[in-house]
Amino acid sequence: MSETVTELRRELAQIIDLRTAARVLEWDQLVMMPRGGATTRGDHLATVGRVAHELFVRDEIGELLEAAARDVDGADPDSDDACLVEVTRRDWEKARRIPADLHAEMTKLASESVEAWATARENDDYASFRPWLDRTLDLKRQYVACFPPADDPYDVLLDDFEREMHTDEVRRVFDRLEPALRELVAAADPEEDEAFLTGPYPEQMQHELSLAVIRAFGASNEFFRLDSTVHPFCTSFSTQDVRLTTRYAEDDLHASSIFSTLHEAGHGLYERGGDPALDRTPLATGCSSALHESQSRLWENVIGRSLPFWTWFYPQVRDGFAVLADVPLEVFHRAINRPRPSLIRVDADETTYGLHIILRFGLEQELLFGGLDTKDLPERWDDRMQELVGIRPADDRRGCLQDVHWAGGLFGYFPTYQLGNVLSVQIWERLLADVPDAYEQIERGEFGEIHDWLREELYRHGRKFTPAETVVRVAGGPIDPEPYLRYLADKNASLVPA
Ligand code: ZN
Repeated sequence: MSETVTELRRELAQIIDLRTAARVLEWDQLVMMPRGGATTRGDHLATVGRVAHELFVRDEIGELLEAAARDVDGADPDSDDACLVEVTRRDWEKARRIPADLHAEMTKLASESVEAWATARENDDYASFRPWLDRTLDLKRQYVACFPPADDPYDVLLDDFEREMHTDEVRRVFDRLEPALRELVAAADPEEDEAFLTGPYPEQMQHELSLAVIRAFGASNEFFRLDSTVHPFCTSFSTQDVRLTTRYAEDDLHASSIFSTLHEAGHGLYERGGDPALDRTPLATGCSSALHESQSRLWENVIGRSLPFWTWFYPQVRDGFAVLADVPLEVFHRAINRPRPSLIRVDADETTYGLHIILRFGLEQELLFGGLDTKDLPERWDDRMQELVGIRPADDRRGCLQDVHWAGGLFGYFPTYQLGNVLSVQIWERLLADVPDAYEQIERGEFGEIHDWLREELYRHGRKFTPAETVVRVAGGPIDPEPYLRYLADKNASLVPA
């Protein structure tokens, strides 16, 4: 390794340490902190974020990058050093465009606005949240204005989560999905009585079963923690320290910890599977939001809602919950898969889920660039929900106040959830070609070979390659909605009628 690259790595490690410290503060805010801590936590985060930002955008980093680029010229373009220089240079050029004040203001606002959102949602009080949303939208537009005009201003926001992806590419995928998903949801059986769905599912047993399943997936005590929170998420502080969170609804199987834990475990396995040599560099995390989501969805849905998975896991779950004593495996499997119109994104079945995302993808563009006034958001939300899913929220808690993302300034993020769903099936098909007995292994509760394949083909690369390159490497071609639509149609057709 050249001296310049060594020095670059040393400089970047300090910056990554600060960003990691900010993630510890965020994890603490959402998992441990008493609400009173909110008065100062925004300042803590803004300070750490500002120092990290200022250290990163220095001219010295640019000079080091230039010198390092000369040193790695001619090296294997897939080598860690070549990728480090290439990815960091792009990050640096992007970060240089954002004035430190704007960066700090966005960080502080996000932290405070999330607290305002939590209160507003609790009280079903959209009006109290609206000024925060207006301010967030205003800062986002200022952020977009820091970049050269794109084909579509939304491209700039999307790029923060899916480097180099364009809005019209997302639109193309979603335009293909929307009518197909609506048709599948409309064709589903009308609501029927599945009394066991409302529990009770005692929390302690949910916790034990959640731990049992993530241990089977390979998330060991030594490298993972599982805690509870309102809005489950996963974060990591290195490949050796991964934090999963979940929630325990006792009266709703769909909102129980089982599925949110499977989901977050998928994110966690991706973080844990990175090459430790990339730790404390900008390459040490998943490649993009959609690829990250492809892994949470692969473990939660493609594996975790499959019949082979439940053939293995259901006996333990049935033993754990008295309410399931007389529920046959096939009935349970159907209940956790069949489409049913739902208001809440995070509790939605696989088929309806995409429609929730399509709704948000459209509305956030309207809010930012299409002239939709925030005062009209609740009604516009409800109208679109009616149109897409066929039902209308009775209040804003179950409408436009349900998600934390906009409060946290995450615009451009929602579409990556559905792109992740699409990718999860493309990657799974590729895995099946190499591991043809994967379903038999799942039926025996064996996940080691599946996990190894994913680590080898995807996890270990971290952020070394662009999302488009990574998708081609792991899935064998560019993003394509067809395998996903076939998968959903096959699954829906296979569900045993009640
Ligand atoms: Zn996720």
